Amino acid sequence: MRTKLAWFLVLSLACVTTPAQTATVAPGTAAPVSGPLPRDGYFQQIHRVADGVWLIAQPQPFHIQPIGNVVVIEQRDGLVLIDAGGSPGAGRRIVELVRGVSDKPVKAVAITHWHGDHVLGLPAIVERWPKADVITTTTTAGHLTGRSMKAYPKGAPDSTAQAAFDERLDGADAFLRDTLAKPDLARAEREGFEASQRLFRQYREDTRGLYLVAPTRMFDTALRLDDPQRPVELWHPGRANTDGDLVAWLPAQRAMATGDLLVAPVPFGFNAYPRDWADSLRALQAKRPTLWLPGHGAAMHDDAYVQRVIALVEQTRAAVAPLAKERLTLEQVRAKIDLSDARVRFVGDDPWLSRWFDRYWTQPFVDAAYREANGQPIEQGEG
Ligand SMILES: [Zn+2]
Repeated sequence: MRTKLAWFLVLSLACVTTPAQTATVAPGTAAPVSGPLPRDGYFQQIHRVADGVWLIAQPQPFHIQPIGNVVVIEQRDGLVLIDAGGSPGAGRRIVELVRGVSDKPVKAVAITHWHGDHVLGLPAIVERWPKADVITTTTTAGHLTGRSMKAYPKGAPDSTAQAAFDERLDGADAFLRDTLAKPDLARAEREGFEASQRLFRQYREDTRGLYLVAPTRMFDTALRLDDPQRPVELWHPGRANTDGDLVAWLPAQRAMATGDLLVAPVPFGFNAYPRDWADSLRALQAKRPTLWLPGHGAAMHDDAYVQRVIALVEQTRAAVAPLAKERLTLEQVRAKIDLSDARVRFVGDDPWLSRWFDRYWTQPFVDAAYREANGQPIEQGEG
């Protein structure tokens, strides 16, 4: 479990070593590194999704190095952000996108969960708006300040931690080079890995000066940020993608920002809580949102995709439970599970996305469902 999560985070935090092509993203500018990157759909864009509400999302919704979506909500006395992006560089670009739609200061950033692609943009945001509260669930605060994120410097950049992080990027670089050296890749896979090399090069730039910002305000169940027009109800609906998930409900707009309970087109199943996940999504559905703002991917105007994810969670659990009961080993269960019909429902026959559906959903979620069926605890991994 832990190895898999670490592997995901290395990839989701990685880029390629090519010093000759490095270029600085100056604080306060949105300028990307030069090169063919914009066509890869990596850089987030901002879209108005309701009056006074915006979604900052990557135009190409799947990358093996993803950046979490950011929701921007304008209240009378300032802006509330849901999540912060995945690196200091992404955070700088988010600051510029936010400034492009409102002159108000950011007064609070609520973090949906502890994974790096949602929190590591905080430095740029709190440097620009130092009075902003950083709000998390108590459980997520424990991850951010404790063992789960022990690899990251706290409160300020640190050259030793940065060097260790860069080494992990070198590992991801080697993985991509080795993979691209294989002759039997499908064309879509080759294009996907080549794009990933470009993105990881950008990511190395973006992650310079990396550090974690500590939460300033915590809650266990719910916290309301009141406002005459756009109140925000922060809420822990139960465990799902992590044990401390936070979602944001905007009752006046009937909008639900879900964090990674909902990720499109390929859901992420690392160290998840299978039984609780479907229940948590149903608790969100019970509010009857008309606008769903996922942790990755575009805004959704109905709950068709939510239903599909609930069905996937239940299908995976139902496939694993009887095999675990027969006392098969995890290896045997992995070999027997076939989610290819579900995979087609999510990603069609695209070989690139199929590969990552297997890696980011099937493998980790089968592992989690196996642990659950055997009564073993699900541990949150190391970042
Ligand atoms: Zn994410």
